[in-house]
Amino acid sequence: MSWRDLFPVLNQIQQVSLDPNKNDRLLWKDGIDLDEFSCSGVWDSVRVREPEVDWMGLVWFSHCIPRHAFLMWLIFRRKLLTQDKILKWDFARRRNMNMMCCLLCYANVDSHTHLFFECKFSSDVWILVRDKVDMGDVDPKWNAIIDWLKRQMQSKLATDYVSRLLVAATSYFIWQERNARLLKNQTRPPDTIATAVLTTVRYKLLGMKFKDTDNVRRLLSKWEIHGGYAEDDGGR
Ligand SMILES: [Zn+2]
Repeated sequence: MSWRDLFPVLNQIQQVSLDPNKNDRLLWKDGIDLDEFSCSGVWDSVRVREPEVDWMGLVWFSHCIPRHAFLMWLIFRRKLLTQDKILKWDFARRRNMNMMCCLLCYANVDSHTHLFFECKFSSDVWILVRDKVDMGDVDPKWNAIIDWLKRQMQSKLATDYVSRLLVAATSYFIWQERNARLLKNQTRPPDTIATAVLTTVRYKLLGMKFKDTDNVRRLLSKWEIHGGYAEDDGGR
């Protein structure tokens, strides 16, 4: 009875009739639907739904590199702990902390806009890698790069897939270099970072099977990959 006082909703439950011939089952009621219980089903019914963002396909796409995708999501959400954000915290203001300059170029402030990719160091990296995905005329600016990618977002062409992969890898290695300088006092020049980006993307491509099309042949020869075609039509 005390349960019914605490949770009046229990009064609405109709009288329970147990069937001893049936096994117990765990179910989840979502509105009027009664479904088999699953963690994913429960999460889907209790989560807060935000409107879908127009950049989702640039972050999460099939055969993305998950740790790169997660960093892209953090950048889109402006969630990286850059110095400009830290200095807005109360304790930083109270202690009158000084803005640390960007550790990649030593000439500007450490912020999302600067790191991706207006910083001299980051733009040098971008300029070294962008030709590999036919983005040679795209300026080293986040908005310019994202606008370009958005225009090809629905495309299933292998070349457009590799563009998304390359932008994510470039962002990832620049952020990694920034952290290595901050935490490990280790510095590498832009061409070493660019090589790391290209090697990572190339390894990813080596592990994939593509449809044998003109677009793919041109792409793979640009990345110096021989073969790599799917035998059936399951590839791109
Ligand atoms: Zn910089």
